[in-house]
Amino acid sequence: MPQPHVVVAGAGPVGCVAAAVLAARNIRVTLLEAAPELPRELRASTFHPATLDLLDQYGVVNEMIGRGLVAPRFAYRDRREGVVAEFDLTTLADVSAHPFRLQCEQYKLCEIMLDRFASMAGVTVRFDAAVVEAADQGDAATVRLASGETISADAVVGADGASSAVRKSLGLAFDGMTYEDRYLVVSTPFEMADHLDDLAYVNYISDSDEWLVLLRTLRLWRALFPVGEHESDDEALSDESAQRRLNGVVARKKPYDVAHRTIYRVHQRVADRFRVGRVLLMGDAAHINNPLGGMGMNGGIHDAVLLGGALAAVLHGDIAEDRLDHHGELRRTLAIDYVKRHTHNNAQSLAAHNPAARQRALDALVATAADPERSRAYMLQTSMIGAVNSMSAELAEVTAVNPD
Ligand SMILES: Cc1cc2nc3c(=O)[nH]c(=O)nc-3n(C[C@H](O)[C@H](O)[C@H](O)COP(=O)(O)OP(=O)(O)OC[C@H]3O[C@@H](n4cnc5c(N)ncnc54)[C@H](O)[C@@H]3O)c2cc1C
Repeated sequence: MPQPHVVVAGAGPVGCVAAAVLAARNIRVTLLEAAPELPRELRASTFHPATLDLLDQYGVVNEMIGRGLVAPRFAYRDRREGVVAEFDLTTLADVSAHPFRLQCEQYKLCEIMLDRFASMAGVTVRFDAAVVEAADQGDAATVRLASGETISADAVVGADGASSAVRKSLGLAFDGMTYEDRYLVVSTPFEMADHLDDLAYVNYISDSDEWLVLLRTLRLWRALFPVGEHESDDEALSDESAQRRLNGVVARKKPYDVAHRTIYRVHQRVADRFRVGRVLLMGDAAHINNPLGGMGMNGGIHDAVLLGGALAAVLHGDIAEDRLDHHGELRRTLAIDYVKRHTHNNAQSLAAHNPAARQRALDALVATAADPERSRAYMLQTSMIGAVNSMSAELAEVTAVNPD
């Protein structure tokens, strides 16, 4: 049988992992990226324990750790009172080989993967190769590029992000909601930890006026603030806004050095289906969610590991093609029941305006952190170990027939 061939649209973290999963199972991969070079915008920076455990078999985790920050604990704080509740992920060492969050920008995973692909005969990477259309052809699938070129393969993976051309060309709905608030992210090299007691690398900070998330990456602190409807994008992105907001975190006489700022809309949306014949959707192309809790990219990588493995097994004739419906539906259910629920709850409790509701959310966190059993159950969910456990039978099915 000739070596099966899959086209992957999008060289973001999900497309790169899908390509690695397929290549490891002896599938020839053409990875098509619309941009002229790897996009390096600052987006996801948190890899959860469950994701690191899944990525370990592709030999990239040590290099990611070398280029990131290990965050063994995360904290909920009150802007005025300081730490309210803290969770120590090292207590999950019995169920994860990586009992910590890894703070590492998503483009670094892509860089590491692309470096590997450069020396792999089975993976061809093409930049400036925007897919404008994908189609199922029964026992094959095709993509048409902006240049007019058409590529035929045994299957196509749409990992081309939230505005996915692959999803749109399949005519799938992407139903859900858009939050009223936009989010502003501002990064600074200023060492916040020298001025705020017991600052963890990941902090969700509640406040009666303006909540925020404060995260450390290797060189910068990133602060994420809500932006209400009374403020335009330009106002929120101005120097005045960045200085005012950062001074609200730590007041300084000197202006902050602002390394980067961006504003974006936040949605919860899931595609109707993740599979149409030989075309599969993964990552943001299939589901987008509130970034609080850091589950978007992580969930997308989980898609790539399970659906990539299942697709390889189908193309090698090891499992029936209709198993892809089961695996796709499982990932879709997890996107709705797990990721959407957790990230929406995070947003609701952090953004509660009503003082009584805000206090109730903080009290619930204090009670959870104080009870070892509840604290462990909470961390198993937020670290996404629960999500991966709920697809363990399917992972075993696709890895059993495709030993690496
Ligand atoms: C500020 C912010 C912080 C976040 N933090 C976290 C976090 O900590 N943890 C987390 O899990 N998630 C987080 N997320 C969400 C996360 O960034 C996304 O879920 C993740 O990028 C999805 O990866 P992806 O590969 O599916 O899509 P993308 O990263 O969007 O990659 C898609 C790729 O496809 C390319 N492309 C687009 N269209 C085409 C086309 N037509 N043809 C070919 N290529 C195409 C794009 O150029 C891009 O390279 C955050 C998001 C934001 C905005």
